[in-house]
Amino acid sequence: MNKISCNIIRDILPLYVDEVVSEDTRAMVTEHLEQCGECRKQYESMKNKVEVPVENDIRPLKRFKTAWKKKKIILVCLTVLITVVCVSGAVFIYDQTQKQALLYSKEYVVGQPGIRGNVDIQQYVSIDPSFDIGANKYGYPVFKNPEKALDALKELYPDAIALIQSEFDLAELSTDTCQWYKIYGAQLETGTQEEKEQANFIARFLDIYENSYFAQ
Ligand SMILES: [Zn+2]
Repeated sequence: MNKISCNIIRDILPLYVDEVVSEDTRAMVTEHLEQCGECRKQYESMKNKVEVPVENDIRPLKRFKTAWKKKKIILVCLTVLITVVCVSGAVFIYDQTQKQALLYSKEYVVGQPGIRGNVDIQQYVSIDPSFDIGANKYGYPVFKNPEKALDALKELYPDAIALIQSEFDLAELSTDTCQWYKIYGAQLETGTQEEKEQANFIARFLDIYENSYFAQ
């Protein structure tokens, strides 16, 4: 065997030991090893070196375990995160759907199946066009645009609203306080006859207004 051939064989040996060479190369190397003691010695020592660490060295296993632990922690965190996102997403959608159900979604026609009460829409619209009334999902009367309607109410009856507020020591009229204004508006004893009538209308207005925000 010449030297070049041995050199080439030794270059290939690591691949040969790992069994990643092609069929032809493997046959060539095997044939060479049968005839060349030097290369065979090299091969034997290489083969042993490869096998010993795999059997005795547990570091790779430890490393693998540590890596797996880290992956497990990341996996658990991801699972928790995804669960939190999904649950809060579902709660948000449920909440929005509930809120949406209280708003105007169909026409309010007295006597129609599923429509509750007998509100005279024309009476409200004749006072202000933004007092237009429809029905929510449950058939209760609601203002088609409750925010615009409340703004119009505040503009139309500032004195009566102020009177209810001071008489019963209430916070400013808003969605949060509308139920108090509704109760006390119907009970106003002071003020002129006109203011009492206005306070009474405010109470009836808010009885419809609250349907957009509070379930019955
Ligand atoms: Zn050789």
